[in-house]
Amino acid sequence: MYQADKRRYDAMAYNRVGRSGLRLPYVSLGLWHNFGSQFPHDNSREMVLGAFDLGITHFDLANNYGPIPGSAETTFGRILKEDLAPYRDELIISTKSGYLMWEGPYGEWGSRKQMLASLDQSLKRMGLEYVDIFYAHRPDPETPLEETMGALAQALRQGKALYVGISNYGPERAAQAIDLLRQMGIHCLIHQPRYNILDRTPEEGLYQLLAEKGVGAIPFSPLAQGLLTNRYLGGIPADSRAAGKSMFLNPNQIDEATLNKISALNQIAQARGQSLAQMAISWLHKDPVTSSVIIGASRLSQIRDCIKAQEAPAFSAQELQAIDEAAGF
Ligand code: NDP
Repeated sequence: MYQADKRRYDAMAYNRVGRSGLRLPYVSLGLWHNFGSQFPHDNSREMVLGAFDLGITHFDLANNYGPIPGSAETTFGRILKEDLAPYRDELIISTKSGYLMWEGPYGEWGSRKQMLASLDQSLKRMGLEYVDIFYAHRPDPETPLEETMGALAQALRQGKALYVGISNYGPERAAQAIDLLRQMGIHCLIHQPRYNILDRTPEEGLYQLLAEKGVGAIPFSPLAQGLLTNRYLGGIPADSRAAGKSMFLNPNQIDEATLNKISALNQIAQARGQSLAQMAISWLHKDPVTSSVIIGASRLSQIRDCIKAQEAPAFSAQELQAIDEAAGF
């Protein structure tokens, strides 16, 4: 029987999420890769329980995480049932709906039908009565935004979600979504964008908007799927995401130009006394709009490495400039 580490809250920092009552850990764990039914359950369990023992209270899922789509939620549901059930009130569990999940016209995007049916499926797979955060996973160009935001509001009013958020929305659409929710009496808790040292898109208006609206940000792929780590410094390891474990990180992306950037960034990290992964995480936290970052992992040792990012010294102006130059900005 699993017993959580009694010292699990001693070292982790918890940041307030925008203008809300919720605080999230400096580092959260995402289950996009390595937690589906094609991966050994023992390793998934070791990572989730190990993360919780380190003070990671937030686990990020989505309806389609696998492979097979849905199976990461099933894995997480099993860990909840067998190990984490006594700790439910210490956990922030999120899920999302919007990407392709089932056949036919209601299996993806942002209709009320899709969003609410998908949430019911997610709750069933995880064996939960409610999730803590329910996201619209991506903007739907064809469904009226009122309908998608209305579905989030309905999930909240039904008690199936405690908070709502949006992901992958550009600044203009995000502003409309946040305002629509506000008109329904609901504060949009959080936005989940892709943001890392190599992808600065949220700096083009999104972060400023979130600061103004009091909405927190929780960047995904903070390590650029592993590029911003020591993983690829000496080539492509056979057990890595780029070595064919995923269709989302192509080995062709690890070209000479990218390798040059990574090794220059690694040198800056080393001079700061950090691993590259740690520097990539603390770099995102330099802006207080960042409430938490969602890392992925294939083994517990990576999670242990990442959480040490919070021990980092503040960045000097020269270091920030050197990072920009190394990353090509
Ligand atoms: P990261 O950028 O953190 O990449 C994770 C990968 O980096 C790991 O699988 C591992 O690669 C490698 N890694 C992690 N830590 C270390 C370390 N300390 N040292 C060396 N290598 C390390 O994140 P992901 O791209 O996995 O995304 C994280 C989460 O964000 C997802 O699980 C999901 O919850 C969320 N997300 C949301 C999206 C959205 O649309 N809202 C889209 C994508 C992700 P390896 O497996 O090769 O060992």
